[in-house]
Amino acid sequence: MRILIVEDEMKVVDFLKMGLGEAGYDVEAAFDGQMGYKLAANSHFDLIILDVILPVMNGFEVCRKIREKNVDVPVLMLTALGTTEDKLDGFNAGADDYLVKPFEFAELIARIKALSKRSSAGFMAGSFLKVADLELDMHKKVAQRGKTTIELTAKEYALLEYLMRNKGRVVSRSEIAEKVWEISFDTGTNIVDVYINLLRKKIDKNFEQKLIQTRIGLGYSIDSD
Ligand code: CA
Repeated sequence: MRILIVEDEMKVVDFLKMGLGEAGYDVEAAFDGQMGYKLAANSHFDLIILDVILPVMNGFEVCRKIREKNVDVPVLMLTALGTTEDKLDGFNAGADDYLVKPFEFAELIARIKALSKRSSAGFMAGSFLKVADLELDMHKKVAQRGKTTIELTAKEYALLEYLMRNKGRVVSRSEIAEKVWEISFDTGTNIVDVYINLLRKKIDKNFEQKLIQTRIGLGYSIDSD
């Protein structure tokens, strides 16, 4: 498994290279955002560990550009910034997970395993999920409603896939946060609602039949009635 580290602090790079190397990963490093983006765009990696504050181009920008190029690699953001807003910026840029420095190495390894399992599970399943005229292609990671193709960010996709796998069942915000983000969010954060709204704009807004249902006090479900 090949991992790209984009990080400008040599101490952190050395620490990660050594630890991940010992854990059996094949590691390459880039020391600024532009170099990181070039490597990610031109060569295959199974995972990218991306710092936020970087020379030349910051991590959010690198992540956004990688997603614009349609490179579907799991991105783990690594940063000293740790507020909910920073997390949202990262997720909006297309990051899959977020780890705040300083972190335990065991925690990093656990996140890497969870991310790689999730991406290979999605790939292996290689099928479609369907609710009414909404179809989710788990190979291409795009949604289609009727004849309209709907592009999704990595997180929007993960959220929609989770709802569709649980078709007809009401899932709570904390369950979504835990299963889709693999983080227990502080109560009071609205990240799940923010993403539900983003999804609604894409899959429901322009269609007569609304599929995402809000169950006040309980959570959300996706259903055809
Ligand atoms: Ca940095």
